[in-house]
Amino acid sequence: MLEHCAHARYVWNLAVEQHTHWKPGRKAAPGFAEQCRQLTEARRDSQWLRSGNADVQQQALKDFAQAKSARFTSGFGEPTWRRKFRHEGFRVIGTDRVPEFEPDGSPKLNAQTGRQIMGRSVVVQKLNRRWAQVKVPGCGWVRFRLTRAELPQAKTFRVTFRNGQWHIAFAVIPQPVDAPGTGETVGIDRGVTITAALSDGRKLNCPQLTTKERAQLRKHQRRAARAPKNSARKTAEYARAARLKAREANRRKDWCEKTSTMLARTYDLIRFEKLNITNMTASARGTVEQPGRKVRQKAGLNRAILAQGWGLLRQRTEHKAPGRIEDVPAPYTSVRCSACGWIDKKSRKSQADFACVSCGFTCNADENAAVNVAAGQGGIPRPRRSAGAGGTTAATGRASVREPQPTRVGIPLC
Ligand SMILES: [Zn+2]
Repeated sequence: MLEHCAHARYVWNLAVEQHTHWKPGRKAAPGFAEQCRQLTEARRDSQWLRSGNADVQQQALKDFAQAKSARFTSGFGEPTWRRKFRHEGFRVIGTDRVPEFEPDGSPKLNAQTGRQIMGRSVVVQKLNRRWAQVKVPGCGWVRFRLTRAELPQAKTFRVTFRNGQWHIAFAVIPQPVDAPGTGETVGIDRGVTITAALSDGRKLNCPQLTTKERAQLRKHQRRAARAPKNSARKTAEYARAARLKAREANRRKDWCEKTSTMLARTYDLIRFEKLNITNMTASARGTVEQPGRKVRQKAGLNRAILAQGWGLLRQRTEHKAPGRIEDVPAPYTSVRCSACGWIDKKSRKSQADFACVSCGFTCNADENAAVNVAAGQGGIPRPRRSAGAGGTTAATGRASVREPQPTRVGIPLC
């Protein structure tokens, strides 16, 4: 499989090279079909390429073509070089021939011959409740840990090698989660202390490394830094540090997946406050002439923000509940009183406490912000949420006692 990785990487990098060294005088860089023809030629000339699997190499070209065409929408930009040890992976196209069907269940027919189109399917077998096996060309049956109830119905799958672990991912786009139909709306306030505060009063925290694991990580980073250059010890220590970081990233991803599924299943409408994470995590370094202040502290905050997985949570929720996500402008959601609508910085007593200076409503600050997000934004009267208020609330006089009218006195709302 490592050899497959090497072949796929080599072919991909050749494709990148063709597209980066394209000169204006020439015609357009070769597309997928032309590259496939060139691959056949290259396989004829190179013993090393010929020894590999043609499908694996062709799929690398297909991946490249897809990455190239999605470069404006994927968020990854132009496809770039793949490096050994860092981007190890290859795609396998299924070898089983199976009849294809239209989305409505009728057989998919060839327009000219009128016969049913035969598609590809990967060859998988379930061994028991936990394990299944898949056919990888040149390797035979490869066992993998089954994380779903049923076997995947995929045309292709991708194998990757990261931090000493092999992963398999089947190319299946799951159906969106159905809305519960209760008409309930939830607001989510994302923060560093509490990763996601929901307007229903729940506080969800993204798991991080434990104190002990963080100490281990620092130890390995320190040892790696002090080891002699190009030594085996340095590599090994860096690998240990990378494994710990990968564990943290895995935990974060797992949490985001579970939380986004929960949100998509329990609420009809999910509102996030609009954050620009790229701007929020900009470096405070400044320039040589004008060095920034508190650079280390800002770097620490940036790391904390990125460790929360805010972006991933929103993205995955949107995947699972398309059309049921709304972004609410973030300004004033944290200083607006969710009971009376009064906007005042002084209401936010501390990081955790909110006490309205106008009506005396007290609440957890993050929860208050989440209720504001659920209501849309400041100024729009919020619908009374169940279990939304955690403290003494002036709810009884809400409609009549509205002396301060924040929207009328000219306080900007967004
Ligand atoms: Zn108030």
